[in-house]
Amino acid sequence: MLNEFPELQDRLKNADVLDESVAKGPLYQKTLGVANGKILLIGDAAGFFDPITGEGIGIAARQALLLEKYVEPVLKENSGNLVKAMFDYSRASAQIYRRYQIMTSLVLLLRLWPKLTDGVIQVLHSFPALFQKLLSVNMR
Ligand SMILES: Cc1cc2nc3c(=O)[nH]c(=O)nc-3n(C[C@H](O)[C@H](O)[C@H](O)COP(=O)(O)OP(=O)(O)OC[C@H]3O[C@@H](n4cnc5c(N)ncnc54)[C@H](O)[C@@H]3O)c2cc1C
Repeated sequence: MLNEFPELQDRLKNADVLDESVAKGPLYQKTLGVANGKILLIGDAAGFFDPITGEGIGIAARQALLLEKYVEPVLKENSGNLVKAMFDYSRASAQIYRRYQIMTSLVLLLRLWPKLTDGVIQVLHSFPALFQKLLSVNMR
């Protein structure tokens, strides 16, 4: 990878390797629900899949918009059905997750076949526009 960053490669050429490379995962955290009538979860607290396809901030931001749409008016006016507002928030939030869950699951599945993963990485390296298109599935 350092070949892609010659300046960094040059700065690191005499550096000592202090430790083994390590990786951590999977980072999947599922929640039973994002709202229960009294507590409402948003962002990573509402569930986290994996940062490998570069989402998370977008989901949290979209959930914030849902919060504004469904829950804030009820809280502001101190009227209306808060339980229903939270239910609407939960349902809309689940829809946001579904789309990116498919793409991220597919990418995480690749780890089971390292040779296939290497092949896919080579293809994506040769066709960056394709890579960008696949990533953008999660960012729409
Ligand atoms: C390695 C990695 C790479 C990632 N790459 C991307 C990426 O490329 N693109 C992307 O969109 N997302 C990425 N993400 C995911 C993204 O960082 C998160 O989805 C996003 O930050 C979630 O926002 P949040 O507000 O829910 O949580 P956070 O950003 O974690 O904010 C929670 C805040 O609460 C604070 N806090 C915790 N406990 C308490 C407490 N008891 N009292 C008060 N404050 C507290 C924390 O200090 C923190 O500031 C990545 C995540 C990881 C781990």
